[in-house]
Amino acid sequence: MSDIKQKLREELVMYGRLMPERNLVVGKSGNLSARVPGEDAVLITPSMIEYQVLKPEDIPLVNLEGEVLEGKTVPSTEKVMHLAVYNARKDVGAVIHAHPIYGTILGVVGKPLPPLIDEMAIRLGGQVEVAEYKLAGTPELAQSAIKGLGNRAAVFLANHGTLCCGKDLKEAFHVTEFLERMSQIYVISLLLGKPRPLPEESIKFETELYKVLHKIE
Ligand SMILES: [Zn+2]
Repeated sequence: MSDIKQKLREELVMYGRLMPERNLVVGKSGNLSARVPGEDAVLITPSMIEYQVLKPEDIPLVNLEGEVLEGKTVPSTEKVMHLAVYNARKDVGAVIHAHPIYGTILGVVGKPLPPLIDEMAIRLGGQVEVAEYKLAGTPELAQSAIKGLGNRAAVFLANHGTLCCGKDLKEAFHVTEFLERMSQIYVISLLLGKPRPLPEESIKFETELYKVLHKIE
C-alpha cells in the first residue's frame, strides 16, 4: 500500500470517528471520501461499518466510474454522489456527506442559507442552495447535488442532509462543521427576528476571495 493511500485511509478513519462525536451523524450514517492525488481514484468509507470500529484497511479504493480497485468491503451507498463531485470539480480533494441537525432542518424546509457573516462567503463560496429532492443513493441525487453545489463548497440535500467538499479532508471536515454552525445561527436568527443580510459589496468581495483561494475560474 502506498504511503499516500495509507495516510488518506488513516485520515478517513480519524475524521469518520469525529462524525458522530461532533453530532454530524448518528450511528453509521454519512460518508467521507478523498481523492488520491495523481490518480483517477478515490478512497471512500464503506457501508455497514460503525465509525468507531472502522480500520484503515476497511476502506476501499474505487476508480472514477465506481469500480472497486482495492479492498474487500462494499463502498458507501452514496459513492455515486461523491464521484459526481470529483468528476465535476477538479479543485476538490475530499467530500463529506453528513446529517447534522440544523443543516438538515434547512434542507427539510427548503431554505437556502444566505451569507450572514463576513467569514461565510470566503469559506463556502456564497449562498448555500438546497438541491432538489431525489432518493438517497441514486444517480439522480448525484446530479441534483452537483447542480446545487455549483462551484461552492457546500449544498443542502432536500429532506436529507448536507454535502461539503474541500481541497483535502481537513478542509472538507471544517466546511461541514462551519456549515452546521452557520445553519444553527440562521435557524435561531429566523426564530428571533429578521436576519439582516450582509451588504452586496461585502458578499461580492468575499465570494471573489473564495474563488482565488480555491483556484476557481
Ligand atoms: Zn445520507
